[in-house]
Order: sequence, then C-alpha cells, then structure tokens
Amino acid sequence: MTAPLPPGATLGVIGGGQLGAMFAMAAKRLGYRVEAISDSHDCPATHHCDRVHVVSYADAEALARIAAGLQAVTFEFENVPVQAARAMAAVVPCRPAPDVLFATQDRAREKAFLVQHGFACAPHRVVRSCDDLRAGIATLGLPAVLKTAAFGYDGKGQRRLAAIDEADAAWAALGPAECVLEGWVDFDCEISVVAARGLAGETAVFEPSRNAHARHILDVSSAPAQLPAALLDEARTTTARILAALDVVGVACVEFFVTRAGGLIVNEIAPRPHNSGHLTIAACETSQFEQQARAVCGLPLGSTRQLAPAAMANLLGECWAGGEPDWSAALAVPGVSLMLYGKSDPRPGRKMGHLTALAPTVEQAIANVVRARSLACRAS
Ligand code: AMP
Repeated sequence: MTAPLPPGATLGVIGGGQLGAMFAMAAKRLGYRVEAISDSHDCPATHHCDRVHVVSYADAEALARIAAGLQAVTFEFENVPVQAARAMAAVVPCRPAPDVLFATQDRAREKAFLVQHGFACAPHRVVRSCDDLRAGIATLGLPAVLKTAAFGYDGKGQRRLAAIDEADAAWAALGPAECVLEGWVDFDCEISVVAARGLAGETAVFEPSRNAHARHILDVSSAPAQLPAALLDEARTTTARILAALDVVGVACVEFFVTRAGGLIVNEIAPRPHNSGHLTIAACETSQFEQQARAVCGLPLGSTRQLAPAAMANLLGECWAGGEPDWSAALAVPGVSLMLYGKSDPRPGRKMGHLTALAPTVEQAIANVVRARSLACRAS
C-alpha cells in the first residue's frame, strides 16, 4: 500500500484551463502546492496555481525536468499529447496513467475499448477515406454523425449527415484525418456520471446529472436527473466498471445517451473532471475536484452525497456582449453561486464561468439558475 502524499507535497496538472484552476483551488485547500504545465501564458490556472510552467508539450526534456520537482501529476483535459504525459510519468506518478489518456483521447480507440469490454456504444465505423464513409453510411444508415477521431470537443470536428450526397462535403471538411462515423442514436436525453477511483481500486460515484446542450455546447446540467432509479443505478454501475476496466486513478466522467426505449448507450469518456460535474462544488459533500486531489494523493475518497437538488448553467462569452454582466442581479436569486474562470477575452462560445443554483426541487434549481443567467447576461 503506497503511503498518501502529505500536505505540502507539490502536484502538477497538465493543462492550464478552468478544470486545472478548480483542481488547484481544491488541492490547495487540502494543503498541497500545485504547479500547472501549460503551453500558454494566458490561462485560468495562473490565478490559482503556485507556479505555471509555460512549455511546449512536445519538449519531453523540459517536461521531465519539471516532473522532477513534483510528487504526482494529473491532467485536466484529454487533448494533451500523450507523449507529454508519458515524459512526466517516466519521472513521477501520473494519475490517471498516460494509457488512460491514450485510450480515451481518440474516438476510434475509445470505441474499441468499449466494444472489447462489452459496454454499449453507438454503432460505428472507423473512416479513413471517402469510400469508407460511403460504405459506412450504407451499413449504418442515415442520419449519421461523422466525427474526427482526435481533438474534437464541444461539437467541433463533427458533421451530421442526412443524405448520401453530403458525404463528399463532410469528408472534405473533416478528412483526411481519421474519423469515426456513428449511426444516429434516437435518444430521449443525455446524462453523465462523474466518478473517482482511488489507488486501491475503490470508487466513489456522484449522482448522475442530466445535460442539456445548446449549439453543441453544454448549457445546463442538473441533478438529480429525474429518471427511473434502476436506470440511474445502471449508469452508476457502468461508470464504476468503466473506470475499473481503464484502471483509472483519479476522476473520470462517462456521458450516456438515454434511448427512447429506456436503455443506456455510452457516448464518451472523459478521463478528468467534467463540466457537468461542476455542480458538485456547491452541491456535494466532496467536489469532483477535491476527489481528483484525494485520488491523486492516495487519500481516502470523500462522500459524494448531494446536499440539495442542483443545476449549473454555463456562462459563455456571448454573455459579455453588452459589457460586464450584472452579477448582482444573478447573485440576488436565492441559492445561486458564481464561479468565474478569470479569462480575459470573452469570445462567443468560450466558457468563461458558470452559475450553480441549489433549491428544494431540481425544477426550481433549473428555473433559478436559468433566471440568474438571463438577469446577468440581459445586456447582451
Ligand atoms: P459528442 O462530442 O460526441 O459528445 O457529441 C456532441 C453532441 O452531438 C452530443 O451531446 C449529442 O447531442 C450529439 N450526438 C453525438 N453523437 C450522436 C449520435 N450518434 N446520435 C445522435 N446524436 C449524437
């Protein structure tokens, strides 16, 4: 049994975005030093980390040098090149291991993992040419979704295909990079489950949240998800099994489609805290970020108990279109809290922060967080 890292130890987080910043806040509260490793100076982690190393992820020597000053390293987004994590893992424990990153950062590999372990996922074909695409459409039918295998997020690198004559244009837009063609899933709603897994293989699973998207970007997450208890139990159990099969040490999120027939289909795995888990900061005994710190340090995982129904609404750059949003108006709504990521440039579609509402019912929490957001962003 490895001894836990004591407070005062220095943790590294690869990536400097808001997930790294919120990890740093949680880890620092537990007494750890946190250093971010980022390829950009201008990142949210600068506001919360003890140090930010600005380095190219391709510079293995520099990464190994940085790793020598750390006691453990984790990552905050899965599009970090796996070589960066491997260069650091050769020097210091990387949790989750780079292999987890490798398996989940590419849709083709992720689907192969799901199939190999018997987890239900959308019917799909790996596509390397326009001929593959046409053959895939012939097998899977239409509509279908073409997705780049690597480096997609928030709907980027995706095309919905409704007719065979759209194949050329879709391939011209997304190829020649390897893609995955997915058959259309007729879903009723989307849910996600965040869970942590510790060094000894113990897991702690959060309440599933229901996710609503707007223009391919997560808009509102709420929990409880208001679905049959048996379905939610199955989602939790499947998530724990996925973390075990990947041998995750840390936090991961599994996104599911809930089909109209009431079944669960895994859409994606994120080997890190997730946007849909941000409501755990205000709503749960232990947040997803504290769980990440606990798992990475070998501490016991905390209770995932949710203290009240909750809803989270993302704040995108659009909210700043009319100048600084009216935070006083938002914060006057009962049970609402605000988290801003400290990003300077509020571009449309950029995640700038989020609001969370706690309320006696989840319907009320959703209504309050949406109202708080529209009050804040009313000038835009
Ligand atoms: P993804 O980046 O894979 O999470 O996809 C972004 C969004 O597109 C999902 O949250 C769904 O709303 C939608 N989507 C993706 N794949 C499919 C599919 N195979 N069938 C239906 N909708 C999908």
